[in-house]
Amino acid sequence: MIYKIIIASTNKDKIKEISKIFNSLKNLKIEINSLQDSNIPEPKEPHDSFLMNAIHKAKYYAQHTKNACLSEDSGLSIEALNGFPGIKSKDLIEEEGGTLKTFIKLKKMLSNYNNYSAYFSSAAVLYIPAYDFLIMHEAKNYGYISFPPRGNTGFGYDPIFIPNGYNRTFAELGTDIKNKISHRNKSIIGLTEKLEKFLNQ
Ligand code: IMP
Repeated sequence: MIYKIIIASTNKDKIKEISKIFNSLKNLKIEINSLQDSNIPEPKEPHDSFLMNAIHKAKYYAQHTKNACLSEDSGLSIEALNGFPGIKSKDLIEEEGGTLKTFIKLKKMLSNYNNYSAYFSSAAVLYIPAYDFLIMHEAKNYGYISFPPRGNTGFGYDPIFIPNGYNRTFAELGTDIKNKISHRNKSIIGLTEKLEKFLNQ
């Protein structure tokens, strides 16, 4: 039996990354669909944690589509800025008017600090309405912020984030390497391991 899952996101880059990760998992009998052409209004992100927002999104889209929905909430936390932008990662780019302006703002905010340590967080949640069942997994990817922005692949904060163990930004490393090591990879793989256990019970 093939199970159908909808990726509960309208972020094209995220959908691409999540689909690639799922496609690399050959043993999993899952058909992935996206919401890209649906006209369901985007839900709010009302909570102050990635996990709670991901649960909210998965349940919201499951209610609208009557399907199992996978959501993923993520963001960048900068240690010297007490975790900012964190759950505000998407809002900050919108408020500043794009990534380049956001990078300039962050550079200014960090100008008095030596600590550029940062991490991406990802909370992946699958809600299966038929069983009223939630599966979730959280992961982080540690590294540091680097200016000026470098690289052309990926999205969001990728041009200013260098993962530990590398000397190039996510945007320079390219999506194949990013997908192997990213916060999103770890949260989705962790979630699929739990899903496999659930399906084989
Ligand atoms: P949301 O999870 O859709 O709320 O969006 C979180 C925001 O965090 C995105 O719009 C990006 O700006 C940022 N973000 C999340 N994951 C990544 C990533 O893998 N690379 C770069 N930026 C990211």
